[in-house]
Formats: sequence, C-alpha cells, structure tokens
Amino acid sequence: MPLLYYWTRENYVRNMDSRDWFHLNQGSPLLREVTEGESLWAFTRNSRGAFVLVAELVITAKGLNSPAWTERYGPFRVWGSMTESAYFDAERGVEVESLLRTLSPKIQAARLGQSFQGHAAVRRLTVEDHLRLCAFARGLPLHPRVHPDGRRDVARALVDEELSVELALPEGRPALPGWLSEGPPPPTWTQSRVYARDGALAQRLQRLYEGRCQICGWDPSSVYHRQLCEAHHIQWLSRGGWDRFDNLILLCPNHHRAVHSLDATLDFADLTWRFGGRREPIQLNAHLERAA
Ligand SMILES: [Zn+2]
Ligand SMILES: [Zn+2]
Repeated sequence: MPLLYYWTRENYVRNMDSRDWFHLNQGSPLLREVTEGESLWAFTRNSRGAFVLVAELVITAKGLNSPAWTERYGPFRVWGSMTESAYFDAERGVEVESLLRTLSPKIQAARLGQSFQGHAAVRRLTVEDHLRLCAFARGLPLHPRVHPDGRRDVARALVDEELSVELALPEGRPALPGWLSEGPPPPTWTQSRVYARDGALAQRLQRLYEGRCQICGWDPSSVYHRQLCEAHHIQWLSRGGWDRFDNLILLCPNHHRAVHSLDATLDFADLTWRFGGRREPIQLNAHLERAA
C-alpha cells in the first residue's frame, strides 16, 4: 500500500536542516501497512505557499522506535532506500495541489493542509494514484543538498561519511569543536559537517559489555588483548540521531561495517537487526529498551 504524507513546512525545514533524511517517524499506524519496495510520497508548502512534492521514499524496512524516540517523534518508523529514494527541490518544484485534489478518495477540505492533521498526516494511495505521482515526479528537480551530483544514488557518500566520522573521532577526546583546534584533521576528514561525539559514552559501553560485540558476542580482547569493538550510533548522527547512551551499540568491526554497508536497521519491537532480508537479534543487551 503506497502512502502519501503531509510534511508541515516547519518540520520539513527543520528535518532538512538537520539532515534527517531517508526515514520517517510518525504516530500514524499506517506506516505499518507499507511494504518493502513501495513508496511513501511526501509533500509540503514551499516558501511561496505552493504545495509541492518533496520526497519519494522507497521503503526498505519498517519498525518501532526506541521508547525515547517514540516519546518525541511517534512509535512508527520507516526507512527509505538511499539508492532509490528521491528528495525534490521544494523551491523549484511544480505545484502539485491540483493533482492531489484528484486522488481518490477526494480531499474535501478547502485548504489542503487541513485534511492532513495529526494521524491523518499519512494516507493510503491507490496503486493508480501512485503511478500518477510517479509520472508527475519524473521531471522534478532533485534537492541539491541531498543529491549534490544530481543523482538519486547518495548511499555511498552517506555510508562512508557516517562510518568515517565515527572512526575518525578518537575515544576520550573532548567533544568538538575544541578538538578541531588541536591540530590538522585526520586523513579521512573530507566531510563538510562535524558531529560532536562524547568519547566517555563509548568507554562506558566498552565497560558494560566487556568489549564484546552485542550482535555476535565476539570478545576481541580474549584473542588479541585489545578493545576492537566500536560504538555505533543506531540512528546515525548524520541522519538526525542523538549522541546518547541509548542510541549507541557496541559492534565488532565486521558487524559495524556490515551495518553501514547495508544500511541495516534496528527494530525496537524485538531488538533485531535487519540486514536486508537477513535478521540478526542482539545477543547481549543490558542498556537498550524494547518498544512498548
Ligand atoms: Zn559482531
Ligand atoms: Zn557506526
């Protein structure tokens, strides 16, 4: 079941500023009805007040949020493919209201936004209407910040950025930006954006799990006498995640690489990772709460 979502302008601007991309959190249980490979379309108002299409998320996974995220953003979450999803340029977009008003069932409200409030911010689309939106979106300019090279495929850049930022910030350093003034950036430092990260949290995680990977339980210190596991941000910092203990998980380098490379998602309903179709439950857990 494809879906249509009304992104209030305020949230749209805030989410785009914080690069909160390729996922959507919502209170509407309709997010559970969309299936993998289907689209969630989003529209908003641009600065001239025109309704415009701003995103097509091609869904790769859905699940429940952690309790902390549920409180703030709603319990339901969908993830969009970073190679197939598209964000359109709201300012250069073409007005879409006249098309939206022909969708079935018909929108009755005089002002479009009125019929998309609260849980009604998400509604079902017929396959036919989805195809009409596809045709409409074909010529729309892509958002220059999300798709700087004009292509839909931004996966590589985001995956590398997030991982290199996590690995490039050594544990125990003070939070940025103070650290930046200490010397030249590490060689992987090619990003335009800097994320503050508290090394003490990673140390706490290492102590709690005695350095073991929370997915496979591997204990590198028993073999190499080194802490080789890495703290990973479950909701990536580069996609709006928090640098908080309840957003961190300790992973061995293999699992860490796999999580980034496959853009794996953690469903808090059962604390199980989705690597595409493959599922791996967390084996060691003493700090993450399941969704209620
Ligand atoms: Zn592992
Ligand atoms: Zn990571």
